[in-house]
Amino acid sequence: MTTSGATRTSSSVWRACCRTAEWIRKGGAGVAALLYPAQCVECGAAIPWGSVVCLPCAERLPHPAGTACAVCGEQLASDSLDLCLRCGTRLRAFDAAVSLGPYDAGLRDLLRRFKFGREKAIGRWLAHELVRRHGSLLGEIDCVTHVPMTRAEERARGFNPSRFLARTAARRLGLPERRLLVKARATLPQRVLSARERGRNLSDAFVAVRSGKGAVLLVDDLLTTGATVDECARTLKRAGFDRVTVATVSRA
Ligand SMILES: [Zn+2]
Ligand SMILES: [Zn+2]
Repeated sequence: MTTSGATRTSSSVWRACCRTAEWIRKGGAGVAALLYPAQCVECGAAIPWGSVVCLPCAERLPHPAGTACAVCGEQLASDSLDLCLRCGTRLRAFDAAVSLGPYDAGLRDLLRRFKFGREKAIGRWLAHELVRRHGSLLGEIDCVTHVPMTRAEERARGFNPSRFLARTAARRLGLPERRLLVKARATLPQRVLSARERGRNLSDAFVAVRSGKGAVLLVDDLLTTGATVDECARTLKRAGFDRVTVATVSRA
């Protein structure tokens, strides 16, 4: 072989390698999985492809325990209670709320990596876990939607984690995912405000962009006071929807 022939051969081999790498990058996720086995994001153990956390680590994640509020799912101090203080003293616009568990070590770490590190495989796994654990409650749903961000908030974050979770959960449930709400203006975190400021902070922040009927699953990443999902649920009910179930990854 001449020198130029050898050069041609090696450059065509190089091009073939580039094409293969490009093919794997674009759509060959299954092939990539064979080449690079998945690892648990918590401990690094080898796990089946499509998983994110190994079974022992999943078991260690915080689970809700004991009696929970019949509406929002908050853990109650006593078995003799049905409702938490917030749901007992105030009518909630949402009908029920479920989550994977309290905002503790493992779950907090996973949620942060998904939201701030944009590790979407983690988000996908969290949404699948939500559906797996609360499948029976989520069986009555007609469509799935999410708590929206303003355009500026979404630009700053790069994506809306709640929408990503909603879309993944909807796919898993075999239900349509719909954009039903927009956020018309920025709001402050409820926990930094006084009781009076809280009402003003959220009023008219969300606007329904579609009306409809039936039961909606409203997805958000984290439930704190519940005021945001409550305001979204109120807006959805004004737009005609009959029932709103809230699903969040965690509750603080
Ligand atoms: Zn693990
Ligand atoms: Zn409650």
